[in-house]
Amino acid sequence: MTVTVRFAPSPTGHIHIGNSRTALFNWLFAQKAGGSFILRFDDTDLERSKAEYADAIAGDLAWLGIRPDRIERQSKRVEAYDKAAQILKAAGLLYPCYETPDELERRRSRARALGRPPVYDRAGLKQTAEEHARFEAEGRKPHWRFVLPNHDGDPFATRRTDVSWTDLCRGDQTVDLASLSDPVLIRADGTYLYTLPSIVDDIDMGVTHVIRGEDHVANTGVQIAIFQALGANVPVFAHHNLLTTRDGEGLSKRKGALSIGSLREAGLEPMSVASLAVLTGTSAAVEAMPDLESLSHKFDLAAVSRSAAKFDPEELTGLNARLVHDMPFEAVRERLANLGIAADETFWTVIRGNCAKVGDALTYWNIAHGSISAVIDAEDDDFVRAARAALPDGEVTPETWSVWTAVLKETTGRKGRKLFMPLRKAVTGLEHGPDMGDFLPLIGRQNILARLPG
Ligand code: GLU
Repeated sequence: MTVTVRFAPSPTGHIHIGNSRTALFNWLFAQKAGGSFILRFDDTDLERSKAEYADAIAGDLAWLGIRPDRIERQSKRVEAYDKAAQILKAAGLLYPCYETPDELERRRSRARALGRPPVYDRAGLKQTAEEHARFEAEGRKPHWRFVLPNHDGDPFATRRTDVSWTDLCRGDQTVDLASLSDPVLIRADGTYLYTLPSIVDDIDMGVTHVIRGEDHVANTGVQIAIFQALGANVPVFAHHNLLTTRDGEGLSKRKGALSIGSLREAGLEPMSVASLAVLTGTSAAVEAMPDLESLSHKFDLAAVSRSAAKFDPEELTGLNARLVHDMPFEAVRERLANLGIAADETFWTVIRGNCAKVGDALTYWNIAHGSISAVIDAEDDDFVRAARAALPDGEVTPETWSVWTAVLKETTGRKGRKLFMPLRKAVTGLEHGPDMGDFLPLIGRQNILARLPG
């Protein structure tokens, strides 16, 4: 059977780095298995779902290098959910309940006060057709619950019913269905909650592996029971730990925390974001991998740790710099051109080690080609004047710097930082930067002379 996975965001906001962890886990898993990846928009909540969010999510995934084999929208598949609901109703497994949210809340508080678990007592299952008719006459509409298979024929005599699965991240897992309320699958307004559509899609789309955040572990026992009630194969599950901030706070799509879009706009490389999103909270070392192919070799669901994956966004800066330092010219040629930098390979090779982001190249391009304000401290004025006069004749080459500074050392008696720094500051306007021997030829004779007072 071909491995088929899905990433199933609700398009109610922009995806953040934590969502990208789920997307990438699915993508890398599919890549390693030669399988296929479905991008499924869980957009049954018509009020909060927006087409522009769906487009933005697809764009963010593309930026990360994820190319879905198939895109699906739950809002287009309601007929399939209706069909499944009919099957469950016909089997007596989906029953109407007329309690209002207030009534349910009162019951839960009563159960808690009596020290009982706040599990729904299946009152709806006891009601007769006449009672239903009375509720309908009052203008009430039913919501529909699935009868969990936690009994031997009498739903009011529940017994411990363990549903187990071997989770690819968490190992053996068990949920006791007698400890849970019958889940509501259809709301009183007739719309579906996430549970049934997700299962129907997983069945119809041949999903073999459900890889998602551990916030769904509790749902899985219920979902397995519904897969079985529909006579379907149960997929393999993997629930990964969630990314949190260093203070252990969760990320929220709605708050726009560390959205992929904002990281992209900040000029970060997709691979530094992907490397951090995938490797944090696993037993592998967090390092910047150059492409998804090499990241897939470090990726292993079994290496995901059980505790929360705390991460520090600051780490992105370091990872990004390491990636940029190793980037071949071919990988950046077009991007530099888009920044208005008509650089050749030599320029990139000289400056990349000083770029934390590709966009930093602009600073060095302007130093080499534009006008900058030279920085000359009063105490260095005479020295830089002498330096101007001592600049070796002819074309500036990679040897010019050492010849020039050797002469100046000799004639002025300066050495070390006092010799090099005033020259660097005057010629580049900065205290840090590429090796001056390599950088000077890029700046050229004319610029050097123009920046030193004569
Ligand atoms: N729409 C659900 C979510 O974003 C999908 C969960 C799942 O993968 O089953 O949490």
